[in-house]
Amino acid sequence: MVGLSVAWHLQEFGHEITVIDRAGVAAGSSWGNAGWLTPGKSIPLSNSSLWAYGPQALFDPDAAMSVPPRVDLKLWEFCARFMARAHQKAWDDTMAGLTPIDVIALAGFDELIDGGVESWTQEGPFVVAFEDEKQSKGFLEEIEGARRHGQDIPFERLADPRELVTQLSDRATVAYRLDGQRFFEPAPFVEALATAVEKRGGVIKTGVRVESVNSTRAPVVELSNGEFLTADTVVIATGAWLPQLAKPLGVKQMVQAGRGYSFTVDTEEPVKYPVYLPHERLACTPYQGRFRIAGTMEFRGPDEPFQPRRIQAMVSHAKRMFRGLDFEDLQDQWVGSRPVTPDGLPLIGETKAPNVFVAGGHGMWGMVLGPATGKLLARQIVTGEQDPMMKRFDPLR
Ligand SMILES: Cc1cc2nc3c(=O)[nH]c(=O)nc-3n(C[C@H](O)[C@H](O)[C@H](O)COP(=O)(O)OP(=O)(O)OC[C@H]3O[C@@H](n4cnc5c(N)ncnc54)[C@H](O)[C@@H]3O)c2cc1C
Repeated sequence: MVGLSVAWHLQEFGHEITVIDRAGVAAGSSWGNAGWLTPGKSIPLSNSSLWAYGPQALFDPDAAMSVPPRVDLKLWEFCARFMARAHQKAWDDTMAGLTPIDVIALAGFDELIDGGVESWTQEGPFVVAFEDEKQSKGFLEEIEGARRHGQDIPFERLADPRELVTQLSDRATVAYRLDGQRFFEPAPFVEALATAVEKRGGVIKTGVRVESVNSTRAPVVELSNGEFLTADTVVIATGAWLPQLAKPLGVKQMVQAGRGYSFTVDTEEPVKYPVYLPHERLACTPYQGRFRIAGTMEFRGPDEPFQPRRIQAMVSHAKRMFRGLDFEDLQDQWVGSRPVTPDGLPLIGETKAPNVFVAGGHGMWGMVLGPATGKLLARQIVTGEQDPMMKRFDPLR
């Protein structure tokens, strides 16, 4: 999402583009995610409730957020830095950095679609459901926090929790509708974006890996097939794999894979709107006539094997809160790696190497923030001027 968004916007300025992906279009985290375009929820992941969540839950392989109990110094350094920001002051600090890009995020989709990307986004409402009032406390605080920082987030309590989504089970006794947010089908959108980039003359090379990027005067990209490409400008947008190419270029910020899982199920009646179950940490979205259920945050390496028990844990949570869903036929089972930074801010801007930039590290929100990222970075590359909101995203911070 992020790399292609940058490519499309550089084309707006007349640049000739080559996009290289070792696998394919939407091969990484941009494939099976929840597809929520919810600036109102694009908030810091690290917050004070993590302390209440407790270290026990972190080590529980079935818990929504988990860390494998193993000796891995880099992973523990990440966790320590991440937890060091799990307090209100740090949350507000990160939120102040995110709000300006959150506010322009949705317009970025309209610009792509108006500019020829043949796809769509859809307005909510989103339904947010809980078993009881107590469970809703954290969610209400988060929305209040995003509002305090300047976002307009209409939401109201539903008189009947099943008013908009009849598939919620009787366990759901409290529900809110959240407006002003959108959703989409992530992989089809990214494929349409790739098609638009190609139609405008861009070249997309897949199945070849970038081994390194070097730059003394002009950037040189070394590919796994032995080729060397030269370019005026290189943008590294390799998601959770960002440090492999960017660290040698001075980008010291950590990017940890926060792995999430998803699957789709058939439903007796179509589910019309996305559903958020904050307590179960599940984000559910209509997808290609089915219903996609996404969630969990597993801090492991991005290339480690798929863990089927994570899906089973999600199924057992979802079964309690829904009815009329066919959990016997799970399709599209998927794991993807969110690129998570310890301070919750993305890495967008120049590296120490001349004319080499990075765009990534958006964590939970790389889909919704992708187009705005592309626009801001392309403008910076072309004009040499940094938008004030980009200062907080400086990859050399
Ligand atoms: C379960 C789940 C749910 C999510 N839900 C949402 C949501 O609702 N809304 C939202 O906004 N975000 C969501 N996210 C987060 C979002 O998916 C990510 O932030 C976003 O996809 C990151 O995009 P990206 O382009 O930076 O990385 P990716 O999509 O991971 O792309 C990186 C690409 O780089 C390629 N690559 C890596 N290394 C190399 C190399 N050396 N050479 C060549 N190619 C390379 C990979 O093949 C990959 O295609 C979710 C994530 C998960 C896991």
